Amino acid sequence: MLRVVILGAAAGGGVPQWNCGCPVCRMARTEHPELQSTQASIAVSADGNHWFLINASPDLRQQLIATPQLHPRAGQLRHSPIAGVILTNGEIDAVIGLLSMREGSPFTIYAHAKVLSILRDNSIFNVLNEKNVQRRPIDIDQAFEPTLPDGSPSGIEILPFEVPGKSAWYLEGKAHPGGNDGAGDTLGLRISDKATGKYCYFLAACARVTDDLKSRLAGASAVFFDGTVWRDDELIVAGLGNKTGQGMGHIAMSGESGAIAALAGLDIGSKMFLHINNSNPVLLRDSAERETAERSGWQIPADGTEITL
Ligand SMILES: [Zn+2]
Repeated sequence: MLRVVILGAAAGGGVPQWNCGCPVCRMARTEHPELQSTQASIAVSADGNHWFLINASPDLRQQLIATPQLHPRAGQLRHSPIAGVILTNGEIDAVIGLLSMREGSPFTIYAHAKVLSILRDNSIFNVLNEKNVQRRPIDIDQAFEPTLPDGSPSGIEILPFEVPGKSAWYLEGKAHPGGNDGAGDTLGLRISDKATGKYCYFLAACARVTDDLKSRLAGASAVFFDGTVWRDDELIVAGLGNKTGQGMGHIAMSGESGAIAALAGLDIGSKMFLHINNSNPVLLRDSAERETAERSGWQIPADGTEITL
């Protein structure tokens, strides 16, 4: 049985975002604290005792406090059930939480060579001493089984694959320390329970749904999918920014080529949006957009939601 906990469902900045006065952020600060959400990450476990984080968000410390499954075992002075962190990209909202895991507990970081090169290029990550924190490269289309701290198998198989996306925004227009060939910048993950064969997909960033991606996703027990914006020009129309969803490497939820339409009719158990930006009206429970998403079979999960496959 694979257990999945949604540690955070929001996009970069979270809800509310520190400098944002949009309607969703204002409501989240005042009469609707239930709208608050931390930056996107999930935790997965096959045995319920050892967990792997998919990305380490800047909100990781807060997420760990809020998640009993990830607390140190009772009676131990130093312990963490977190056996590893799998990184899907090198964005700030995927890697900064690693700096909150610096107190000497052993775990392993799994990431594409491109992302490992970003960690290597930024010396602050050396706070994670390689004696305790191994860094293992993962390859596109090469399934691997992350291991527990004692080297035994976790019972989880992870298949990273290339997704249409973008390089980390802070590297835009700059030389990438891992090379500028575009490969490995944005990964999707298929996460399988080796005992049952059931699997889910994690795609917190995806610029468009290709036929290849559709055929991958069909048959999954759950899909956690890029829900950054409702419509492509949402930030511009709201006066919040000058970038489109596509310009940031994110597909819109709505529209003819949006995620809801693209994944309609596929045989998928649970469809959940993740990485939802605070500008996205789907966050408001009484909005027409929320109704459309839910009527189309999508869930807008709250932080802390656990599902089992
Ligand atoms: Zn906002």
